[in-house]
Amino acid sequence: MPGDTARDSVCRVKASFSDQLRLLELARLDRDVSAAETARRHPPQTARVQELLAQRQAQSTELTGLLAARDDAQTELSRLETDVALVDARVARDRQLLATSSNAKEVQGLEHELGSLAKRKSDLEDLELEIMERLEAAEASVAAQQALIAATNDEGARLSAEGKAAVAEATARQEAAARDRAAVAAALPADLVAQYDKLSAGSAGAGLLRRRTCEGCNMVLSGTDLQTVRQAAEDDVVFCPECGCILVRTDESGL
Ligand SMILES: [Zn+2]
Repeated sequence: MPGDTARDSVCRVKASFSDQLRLLELARLDRDVSAAETARRHPPQTARVQELLAQRQAQSTELTGLLAARDDAQTELSRLETDVALVDARVARDRQLLATSSNAKEVQGLEHELGSLAKRKSDLEDLELEIMERLEAAEASVAAQQALIAATNDEGARLSAEGKAAVAEATARQEAAARDRAAVAAALPADLVAQYDKLSAGSAGAGLLRRRTCEGCNMVLSGTDLQTVRQAAEDDVVFCPECGCILVRTDESGL
């Protein structure tokens, strides 16, 4: 047994060529399981959904301000309408008094007041127009903001549904790969699987040696290491000196 050191290149576990080849399938299925788990935990929609939640928060805050501005305009308009109604009532009263008064001084006073009231009403109506324009603009801003929020909600709902579907798909993929993995592992000698499992915690577990390169870590084996691998029997289990995974030798290995 060559290299009986801390960095053994050859293991006492023996395995047929076909079993060693199946280790590559085991490693591929393990990668599938792991990739599916990552996809399940981190669906690509999550980041955008988080972004949209923050966006909706900001949009809602802005809407609150716009609604307050609209309400202010509405309140101001109501107040002006009340003021105009008061002026109208006063004008009606003065006109009635004027129609029945015979006191010259009172008539003069009433006419003077009617003049002031006409000016006051005209001013109020100018102001009313101004506020109505402001109210209209405020209502348009509110409607536009509500449309923005609706669009944000729509995108959020669509992405959440897509995210859920992606998670469900990844979960199914993970379960299928895990089932296949269990079937492949069950058909292999237990000691070989145990060896693979131990190694796969810190490496690819098993990798094809192709053109003198370990496909577990993509490192090219040096001359001495290749020599050790060459000397190993077909049913010896050999390891990559770089990453420690089981090196599976085929015609493509370049030995
Ligand atoms: Zn390697």
